Amino acid sequence: MAKKQFQAESKRLLDLMINSIYTNREIFLRELISNASDALDKLYYTSLKSGSTGVKRSNFVIRIAADKDARTLTVSDNGIGMSAEELESNLGTIARSGSLSFKEDMELDDDKKSRKITDIIGQFGVGFYSAFMVAEEVTVTSKKFGSDDTFVWKSSGADGYTIEKAVDIPSSAEIADSGTVITLVLKEDTDDENYSQYLNDYTIKSLVKQYSDYIHYPVKLGDDTLNSMEPIWKRQKSKVDPKDYNEFYKSRFNDYVDPARVIRTAVEGMQSYTALLFIPGMAPFNYYNGDYEKGLALYSSGVLIMERCKELIPDHFSFVRGLVDSQDLNLNISREMLQKDRQLIAIERNLEKKIKKDLLDFLKNDRDEYEKFFDNFGRQLKFGVYDNYGANKDLLSDLIMFTSSKDKKMTTLDEYIERMQEDQKYIYFAPGETIEKIDMLPHVAAAKAKDIEVLYLTDEIDEFVLRVMFDYKGKEFRSVSDEDFRAELSDSESARLDDITKTNEDFLRFVKTTVNGTDASDSIENLDPDLLKIAETRFSLSLGDAPVMLTVNGMVSLEMEKTFKRMPIDRGVRAEKVLELNPDSPSVKKLMQTYSGEESERAEAAVRLLYDQAVLLSGLEIDDPVRMGKDIVSLIG
Ligand code: ADP
Repeated sequence: MAKKQFQAESKRLLDLMINSIYTNREIFLRELISNASDALDKLYYTSLKSGSTGVKRSNFVIRIAADKDARTLTVSDNGIGMSAEELESNLGTIARSGSLSFKEDMELDDDKKSRKITDIIGQFGVGFYSAFMVAEEVTVTSKKFGSDDTFVWKSSGADGYTIEKAVDIPSSAEIADSGTVITLVLKEDTDDENYSQYLNDYTIKSLVKQYSDYIHYPVKLGDDTLNSMEPIWKRQKSKVDPKDYNEFYKSRFNDYVDPARVIRTAVEGMQSYTALLFIPGMAPFNYYNGDYEKGLALYSSGVLIMERCKELIPDHFSFVRGLVDSQDLNLNISREMLQKDRQLIAIERNLEKKIKKDLLDFLKNDRDEYEKFFDNFGRQLKFGVYDNYGANKDLLSDLIMFTSSKDKKMTTLDEYIERMQEDQKYIYFAPGETIEKIDMLPHVAAAKAKDIEVLYLTDEIDEFVLRVMFDYKGKEFRSVSDEDFRAELSDSESARLDDITKTNEDFLRFVKTTVNGTDASDSIENLDPDLLKIAETRFSLSLGDAPVMLTVNGMVSLEMEKTFKRMPIDRGVRAEKVLELNPDSPSVKKLMQTYSGEESERAEAAVRLLYDQAVLLSGLEIDDPVRMGKDIVSLIG
């Protein structure tokens, strides 16, 4: 019989797994039991939907059997079973996302490699394959519910697998109607690894107790039922060890790090339900790339009816995993009905409140961990503020954080307001690519010199978020480069600024026309806005040591313009740029004296170069490097 090859990536993963020094080999049993439990859930659900009466939930069982002489360990279930095609597609392929590249991983040193494998197991749910960590041969015999044929899948690891029709049905009577028997031939013991232990009753019992206790079908070894079967969310709160929640979360939701938070809630009344929610300790690898699916598992009296019910969780909290169990739900509920189901909508609202409350508590009482959480999921919260024109901003705005100019640490808006100077009117922010770059901006330096705290916006979405919010607790947001930053100038400073501006109107015009390369007589309205480099030139007392700075008038900032330009469709949204000049800078002073005399050509070159400098400081590109070179040469020569 011809051997089939595993899909290329699966083969590499298998190689890694089999030869790895992965220390947590014992989890293979948990993985097999959890697959068996899923298969029973599926059978129950299928039979309910199709109205077949032959299936009795009370007969559902997962059996473990060990044969010391043959060195085999068997895990069987009378669940839904697999057809030949399903054996092929479910067990012939892993890493279904197909996007994994294992090439680099093969070159990792052993320690890193083993960590990488844990990552893979966690993220891709390669559960079944973990059997190869302890077995030299794995046989899967399966009969699909409703079919008369039984098929056998067999593999000794990376060299491929076979599938054939079963001639003699295994003795296990449980799969008479449907189900799956998985038989592992354990590897020989080595100096480092004791595989024989998995044949001991004692080891099997303690592994089931440790990892699979909550499975709600009996897991039997001989006549003994090894698990308590009581779902963890139905156990009395005081009787559950926090560690149990962590273990449950990891095995139930395929994660490999402990959750950051566990939220458990029970509601009695018109609509009774229990919810057990988790905030993951780490963002899933696909969380922000669009193929992440939100949703909570939905149970009706302990029976899973849907794995990811997205109606139960709002988008802004889509990172929350967990389950809801309600006895009041109709088991036969369809997808379409779900969307309108009032019970579900009511549950979602309650959960949203509950999660919000928990996050605030988290922020207040476990600040360091909250920052880690925010690092993982903060973008989603910010997106939630921005989404729907700010419909959820009141719910979310006290949960978001930004880096502050104060110690470069994360701050909430409440904390910012608390530290505001008495006469400070606005909450100031400065957008830019990195904290380091923002820190070098002249306006930021000027603000810091006045002891005004600035929020550093490094995430593309940040500025949009603040624009949508408009204000927080009555304090409006202002960019440090807004002209309104003058609001923080003293009266004498304002008077001085007005004075300089008045006496230097000609100079300002000279700078503007020079930069734009136009005639002083051209009116700006007649120019193609895309060719117009700056719309205005003005003096500023907020530039610190810098001679010039590019800023904007209006709502569209330079950072926003960059974001818009990167979008697939360029809608032509542009910032209205302003060149600010520092009247106290020696180079600007000199220009003011010389621009109209014999040196006016030199002055023009200098103005263009100052503008180029401002452009570079803002992280934009020089429009004409050749001209810039010529200007430099002309000034040197
Ligand atoms: P996961 O369980 O994360 O999907 P696995 O590699 O453990 O990944 O299993 C792959 C698929 O094989 C499962 O999704 C399921 O469809 C099928 N499968 C595994 N074990 C069983 C079983 N005991 N009964 C029926 N189907 C199974």
